[in-house]
Amino acid sequence: MSRLVVVSNRVGPVKDAARAGGLAVALVDALKARGGLWYGWSGKVDERGNDSAKIEEAGSLTLATVDLAPEEHEEYYNGFANRCLWPLFHYRIDLTAFDRRYYEGYRRVNAKFARVLHPLLKPDDTIWVHDYHFLAFGNELRHMGAEQSIGFFLHIPFPAREVLAALPHHDAMVRGLFAYDVIGFQTERDCERFRDYVVREAHGSEDGDKLHCFGRTVTVRAFPIGIDSEGFAKMAASDKDACKQHDKVTSSLAGRTQIVGVDRLDYTKGIAERFHAYERLLQDYPETRREVSYLQIAVTSRGDVQEYREMREELDGLSGHINGAYGEFDWTPLRYLNRPMARRSLAGLYRASKIGLVTPLRDGMNLVAKEYVAAQDPEDPGVLVLSRFAGASYQMAEAIIVNPYDIKGVADALQIARYMSQQERRERFEALMGRLKSEDVAHWRDDFLTALADVAERRIRPTVS
Ligand code: UDP
Repeated sequence: MSRLVVVSNRVGPVKDAARAGGLAVALVDALKARGGLWYGWSGKVDERGNDSAKIEEAGSLTLATVDLAPEEHEEYYNGFANRCLWPLFHYRIDLTAFDRRYYEGYRRVNAKFARVLHPLLKPDDTIWVHDYHFLAFGNELRHMGAEQSIGFFLHIPFPAREVLAALPHHDAMVRGLFAYDVIGFQTERDCERFRDYVVREAHGSEDGDKLHCFGRTVTVRAFPIGIDSEGFAKMAASDKDACKQHDKVTSSLAGRTQIVGVDRLDYTKGIAERFHAYERLLQDYPETRREVSYLQIAVTSRGDVQEYREMREELDGLSGHINGAYGEFDWTPLRYLNRPMARRSLAGLYRASKIGLVTPLRDGMNLVAKEYVAAQDPEDPGVLVLSRFAGASYQMAEAIIVNPYDIKGVADALQIARYMSQQERRERFEALMGRLKSEDVAHWRDDFLTALADVAERRIRPTVS
């Protein structure tokens, strides 16, 4: 089997992969089995922004990282990746920074990453590139003469044609993607949107899961990412920290129904809309007062970006308002925490919560939805209320599927979840868990790598200019 090279913005963790979660474990397992190389940014910003890789051996796998110069970090990472591609691909054109400097920096840094990796490659390597930081990376490698099989997986949504067309360099970007042999998306919907762009905007043609355009053929398929479902279920049921957290939460609830939300603090997650829906529940169904408790964990991310600071202020205000308006001296309706929680404790928290509320406005997949289900007690499982705009909703039809913009609809769904019979909860849980097990993270990884191996022999590899 050829060596596997994984390219992702951040490398590792390797030693503590279990703590980081299913994706890191799945990648490390594959890298170890094939004696692989994991390559990406070191996480360091250095005045010199060196142009060579730091190599470390970690057992049978090799880690290679490069530092970024402050200007590269600003333009490629903060700029184009996080202030342009992230909001645009999540349909927030209003928050998208269309700055030519960012685009140029992104191209330059993608070329730098390719230049540094190229001499480390072996002729029969299989290269797997991850996410929106590296849309242009494959094409840069091809320009340097790389003929290896290169696959690309996009973890975030792919936007509708007209949204993507708002990006000044959308055509060059999509053309560059055709340097890859396999392009994987989270859902069939993302594939449809990509095909729609290629056929209608770039005048390509489709043939089953193949797309022909710019003189190239790529395989385009959905590979919905999973979690380590069995491992997570086991952790929730029997890990010491998980059980401690479960018991602590259960006793603090004093018989109340807990609704739980767990997110990175990001405008794509719909947390403000969720707060409004919770208030609506308390308003429209007064009997829920004192009977429910909503715990929202929202871990601060990108705290130095203006839009994130504004969102934080809005959420602080809303949570204060809800607690001020509805709270009692012995009941806090909404507990809102900005601290991260270790995955083990999170597993116990999910299990102690009768309702999981996952309502992003747009999300590539959403792993919290899957973790919440995996953590439930099969005999007496909780109910997942899930946004139709999370990629996970396509595999999780037995959740209560909601439109996160419909505040009243989400409030009603919470009320339905509260009264759902044990039998119905068990039936829904069994269907969801069955699929979580068969479509877990190892399946995702193997499925992608098999698709890449399948096309390896059949492809032609000219450079796309
Ligand atoms: N997570 C965590 N601790 C926290 C909050 C979140 O470990 O306090 C983890 C969570 O278990 C999940 C991941 O962060 O695995 C979030 O993934 P998701 O796909 O839901 O959203 P993303 O942040 O990737 O957009």
